[in-house]
Amino acid sequence: MAKQILRCDFCGRGQNEVKLLIPGMNGCICNECAERASELVKEYLVEEGERMLSDIKLNDLPKPKEIKEYLDQYVIGQESAKKYLSVAVYNHYKRLAQNKDDIDIEKSNIIIVGPTGTGKTLLAKTIAKLLKVPFAIVDATVLTEAGYVGEDIESLLVRLLAACDYNVKEAERGIVFIDEIDKIARKSDNPSITRDVSGEGVQQGLLKLLEGSVVNVPPQGGRKHPEQKMIPVDTKNILFICGGAFEGIERKIALRLNTHVVGYGAGNHVSKADQDKLLHYVAPQDLRSYGLIPEIIGRLPVVTNLEPLDREALRRILVEPKNAIVKQYEKLMMMDGIQFSVTDEALDFVVDKAIEYKLGARGLRSIFETIMMDVMYSFPSTKKKKFELTLDYAREQLDKSNFAIIASSM
Ligand code: ADP
Repeated sequence: MAKQILRCDFCGRGQNEVKLLIPGMNGCICNECAERASELVKEYLVEEGERMLSDIKLNDLPKPKEIKEYLDQYVIGQESAKKYLSVAVYNHYKRLAQNKDDIDIEKSNIIIVGPTGTGKTLLAKTIAKLLKVPFAIVDATVLTEAGYVGEDIESLLVRLLAACDYNVKEAERGIVFIDEIDKIARKSDNPSITRDVSGEGVQQGLLKLLEGSVVNVPPQGGRKHPEQKMIPVDTKNILFICGGAFEGIERKIALRLNTHVVGYGAGNHVSKADQDKLLHYVAPQDLRSYGLIPEIIGRLPVVTNLEPLDREALRRILVEPKNAIVKQYEKLMMMDGIQFSVTDEALDFVVDKAIEYKLGARGLRSIFETIMMDVMYSFPSTKKKKFELTLDYAREQLDKSNFAIIASSM
């Protein structure tokens, strides 16, 4: 009796007609059919990813009020920025859920103007956490025009890709926070005099990303090599949140408000406005006078501001946010079975020092760490079960450290 020829159960070819026949429980598959099947699976997964993207259900999205409430748990104050952000982010993800009809909801990238250390990055990071979308922070100061020393614009997307293990579909709905956007403002009103490497050229490059286009990203980041295989990333649905201190922009705002007020005879509005509060009135025109090109401003339709943090806000930052410094220390010490507490006077002291050294919210942490250093070092080896941070102890620890010297050079 002739030996039975094994056949591929998908294409019917015999084992002598194919390179490899893989046997299964009740049949076989040849190498070519296996390869084809694998391609189909890949295609399916890509389609599935796209479907998931367009499948964002409005009901699943947190409403602006819920977004704001979530932000409240982590970010102190900054009420107006939180509101603006909540609405902008909600609308952004609504875009992804929109029906394809005549009305196209446009993207609303956001720009936040405010002094450094007042919560710009924190806000962007907290929103990304809530939405569970990939998030990347990039510093605009490292960007230079293509061909110059520094990073190309595409590097912004490399970070985003890295944040989601190079899952392009995920990255394409992520959030990119571009810090220090003010540093790429045009330095002079006449760009033709000298080449403005980190100014207008970068803004033109950035524009491409903000508008939404398919950008070829070098997978390893850094400079492009001709032989490198590029990853195409569509920025259409990526939300860009830009932040900058825009130092001195108050003068531009004051100038604009003055002319405006005179023009409309609305009384002496500006002189009444507290200098500190001028940022409240920040408008796209001011960003333009500061040196951002009109096209960029047009792509950042949501402009909001952060307030400088006063004593009360700093005090609240120490204890209130979900991951407040004091709560973190409680947790750290509890892991060694030690109960941690801190007196009101000690908290006030930390705040006073942050203000004295002009360190703002960022300084709170370094001051606290300096004060707690000895305790964190010695307590885990003792049998003590309690530690109360008092004013005297805090003062003594800070005095004996080099903090004053370090802080004055920060
Ligand atoms: P920037 O405005 O320069 O981006 P960050 O958001 O990075 O400032 O703030 C630095 C740190 O200061 C944060 O990680 C956070 O610990 C603290 N911080 C700043 N502003 C706030 C705020 N409004 N509420 C709570 N913590 C804040």
